[in-house]
Amino acid sequence: MVLSLGGSPLDPPPVPPVEDSAFPAARARMVRDQLVSRGIRDARVLAVLGQVPRQEFVPKALWGEAYEDGPLPIGHGQTISQPYVVAFMTEALVLRPRDRVLEIGTGSGYQAAVLAGLVAEVFSIELVEPLGRRAEATLQRLGYANVQVRTGDGYGGWPEAAPFDAILVTCAPDEVPEALVQQLKVGGRMIVPVGSQGAAQELILLRKTPERLERQAVLPVRFVPMVKGN
Ligand code: SAH
Repeated sequence: MVLSLGGSPLDPPPVPPVEDSAFPAARARMVRDQLVSRGIRDARVLAVLGQVPRQEFVPKALWGEAYEDGPLPIGHGQTISQPYVVAFMTEALVLRPRDRVLEIGTGSGYQAAVLAGLVAEVFSIELVEPLGRRAEATLQRLGYANVQVRTGDGYGGWPEAAPFDAILVTCAPDEVPEALVQQLKVGGRMIVPVGSQGAAQELILLRKTPERLERQAVLPVRFVPMVKGN
């Protein structure tokens, strides 16, 4: 017997919507009101932030807040960064499609997804294993095939995949980790929040030239600490 729950039994089964229609609209508002209005200009960065489904990277209970103007808790005492900060850091790296990028602090995987939409390859390191695993699963489920996630201590970087065109650090060390500087290509850029907890932190933009490492403070921020692993 064919059970018909409304409609004819010959109707094709309903296909679940890929995404609730409220999300794309909320995302477009986020791009306009939080990013463009604050000076984010890079069209590729704006396009990617307008595409990546941020709700997929936060707990379901917070889906209604997925496009609000702030960080959100993702468990294990960690947070997904504010969309503006994600856009600002991404834009500062001036990424090109063939770049290979290292991220420290995978967290939810959202920043990695944003990078994956802009460059050839993303390598992301997360200290907290369950977070790293969940981010990896989320990225896989959403089809981001050009991201590799590794559980480990970001202070050592990812030597086997180095050197990188760009490095983005989303937890705050007291000082710029030396291994990361070494793993940055000449001509490459790194953005990293530097400063201890409680004290002021600044996003530092580093540019590696053949002669030296240029260093510029670009934005006051507040990130979770970059924890020293074992
Ligand atoms: N980029 C993330 C937000 C990260 S929050 C996102 O898009 O959601 C900062 C993350 O850095 C946390 O998940 C924290 O566990 C991680 N972290 C802290 N110290 C670390 C270290 N030494 N190495 C790697 N990850 C670290």
